[in-house]
Amino acid sequence: MKDSHGRTIDYLRISLTDRCNLRCIYCMPAEGIEQVPHESILTFDEILRFVRIAAEAGVRRVRLTGGEPLVRKGVEGLVRDLHAIDGIRDISLTTNGILLAKHMPRLVEAGLSRVNISMDTLDPEQYREITRGGNLEDVLAGISAALAAGINPVKVNAVAVRSLNQDYYAFARMSVDRPLHMRFIEYMPVGDSSGSCGQGWGEQDVISCDEIRAQIDARATEEGVDGLVPVEGSSRPDGGGPARYWQFPGAAGTVGFISPLSRHFCGECNRFRLTSTGMLRPCLFSDDEFDARTVLREGTDDDVRALLQQALGAKPEEHTQGDHANATQVGMNQIGG
Ligand code: SAM
Ligand code: SF4
Repeated sequence: MKDSHGRTIDYLRISLTDRCNLRCIYCMPAEGIEQVPHESILTFDEILRFVRIAAEAGVRRVRLTGGEPLVRKGVEGLVRDLHAIDGIRDISLTTNGILLAKHMPRLVEAGLSRVNISMDTLDPEQYREITRGGNLEDVLAGISAALAAGINPVKVNAVAVRSLNQDYYAFARMSVDRPLHMRFIEYMPVGDSSGSCGQGWGEQDVISCDEIRAQIDARATEEGVDGLVPVEGSSRPDGGGPARYWQFPGAAGTVGFISPLSRHFCGECNRFRLTSTGMLRPCLFSDDEFDARTVLREGTDDDVRALLQQALGAKPEEHTQGDHANATQVGMNQIGG
């Protein structure tokens, strides 16, 4: 699938649920979200039909996200069925890691290729505060389980929020002894500014990836350790995403930076997003969406194909993220990041 700006779209991110077992302060309100009626959520059969048609059109890679995808029952079965679809070469998962250790062996058996684990800090107390009650030990066990299961690459993502004062150096150093890809993501203006999706985004809380890298290098110098060097070409962890990678010399893993705000990568955008209620979104930062659920429930395969083409035609050339007034009003827990 080529869009009107010449980009090939071969990647689909699917949110399996809005629900989550955590309440991260930048993503969800403390009391949780209003429950979406069960019948509004796409069934696994509907998801599989959509992916089959999308794969015929050229989608090659699928990522499962949420909310927290592992709170939905039967994800292993979904992975197995996605794996069996002609054309799908890569199935990955974005998870907060809390339930990962328990699910990891069966997910791998089912055909999961890769996993991204979200973990914003290595300080157990701060982790509890950011996630409003999460236990860091569970996530660390999830990371170890992913490595033990032979998943490669294992990426660990931290959203950097200036007022949280996270220890970026300690996080980056986790890449030294184990083949972990520790990545920083700039805090994005998602959700309405009233804080209904979290505490409310503020520009003062955005810290650019360049600043984070400079802080890591300054700490390395203080500690008498060599600083980060760029990782190019085939040494980059695969996945086709927008991160830029660096590495401590001799480290087993890498340190990645995802800068949607300070260095946007719309020119390389290769994806569509399907929300848990079956809305197809051409761009993370726009509220334009196409009702795939109704078409899946009432239409033919040709109708689904036509919807994909419509969404393809609607992919904007680039987003207007710096301008919060134009950013999406829907929370990240609904779109899936
Ligand atoms: N629950 C899963 C998890 O946390 O990995 C999957 C869904 S979560 C919405 C996907 C990713 O979006 C997480 O890494 C989360 O930290 C990130 N995220 C949420 N709100 C964000 C924001 N405003 N800016 C940047 N990343 C955000
Ligand atoms: Fe849940 Fe992920 Fe949002 Fe945290 S970032 S509240 S883990 S959906």
